[in-house]
Amino acid sequence: APVRSPLTVTHGPGVRVRPKVIGADALVPLADGRRVPYANLDYAASAPCLEAVHEAVTRALPYYSSVHRGAGHASQVTTDAYEAARDTVRGFLGAWRRAAVVFTRNTTDAMNLLAHAVPRGTTVVVFETEHHASLLPWRRAVRLPAPATPAEAIGLADRALAGSPAGPRLLVVTAASNVTGELWPVHELARVAHRHGARIAVDAAQLVPHRRLDMTALGLDYVAFSGHKLYAPFGAGVLAGRSDWLRAADPYLKGGGASASVTASRTRWAPAAEQRHEAGTPNVLGAIAIAAACEALTPHWDALAAHEERLLVRLRSGLAAIPGVRELTLWGRGPRVGIVSFTVDGVPAREVALALSERHGIGVRDGKFCAHPFVRHLLSVNGTEAGGGTPAGDGTAVRASFGLGTTKEHIDRLLAALGRLASEVA
Ligand code: PLP
Repeated sequence: APVRSPLTVTHGPGVRVRPKVIGADALVPLADGRRVPYANLDYAASAPCLEAVHEAVTRALPYYSSVHRGAGHASQVTTDAYEAARDTVRGFLGAWRRAAVVFTRNTTDAMNLLAHAVPRGTTVVVFETEHHASLLPWRRAVRLPAPATPAEAIGLADRALAGSPAGPRLLVVTAASNVTGELWPVHELARVAHRHGARIAVDAAQLVPHRRLDMTALGLDYVAFSGHKLYAPFGAGVLAGRSDWLRAADPYLKGGGASASVTASRTRWAPAAEQRHEAGTPNVLGAIAIAAACEALTPHWDALAAHEERLLVRLRSGLAAIPGVRELTLWGRGPRVGIVSFTVDGVPAREVALALSERHGIGVRDGKFCAHPFVRHLLSVNGTEAGGGTPAGDGTAVRASFGLGTTKEHIDRLLAALGRLASEVA
């Protein structure tokens, strides 16, 4: 009989009504020595850990042992938990039964694995609006310019795929932008890709913490995401999707676990995509953490989306009312997740972020968000290329992002702090 793992998290009456994050009540020091509750508005970089994740990892710690190769009880229990985590992720993503689910280090690692596995000569079509993790790994890529509307995105992809040479083709696109939070029409893009006999790979790093994603319903061939943006700690991510390219490619990492047999003259690689591309001892706790986050979030998508929408409306309308603050947006309207980037006329983004932290205890991100071509484009189309006509513009912006554990008080503190900052430079 299969070993029933005490580590496996199951749905049931014990499911939490609202997943809670840990550390939400932390106090942080200000420059003047006061300590104030931290307003963490940097979820898109790394989200705080869920209580359910903390508990799952704590449950695993006394038991863990090496997976797959040990006969001891702890090894069996850990192997069972690791494989159960894979199944949970498969269900979470709405992937088909035989889809490969490879645990990677993060989204970057997942996209690089896919780039490694695509057949030689594959034409990759990618929007220049992508995060560098999805923009840079490809050997040969056709780069599409930033589209002015979702319909234009579909048209651009359609024409690029129609004009691409015969042979394997892959369209790469984000599901939710890490700069503007805007959702991309991945369902329609999947249809376009398939109409041309191409595949579609979706960077879901910023979507899965906010919305249910169903690979089967959307027709997605590959999905990548990171645990640390999904309310789990660092160091584990996922590439899920079709297994044929992955099974045909040499291992991404060569070593123990990836091989089926090794002699002096010949190595045969493991036939299953997961084994083949998970050489070495995997991040078992990372996989358990991701699965716990998937389980904790799954019953709450509607409540989560409604909570975030309320905060988004509050934040965006508040920003629009502050003179000199300009939101960066590609399409302006349409669905989006809790990510908003903006500039403040006359104040470099770094200074805005430091002032928010040191004077107000608010954590945001500043810079180009690992999406340099996209941020450059957004600054030009949103009229902030030179910091709103002042010498302050340095091609960077500020990003506020949020999710579970964010309150309207956090948003109001941000708006009040920005209002003060903007009035000081006016
Ligand atoms: N893709 C998107 C859309 C992201 O926002 C990020 C992280 O910021 C990544 C990929 C890369 O994620 P990681 O650093 O976890 O590999």
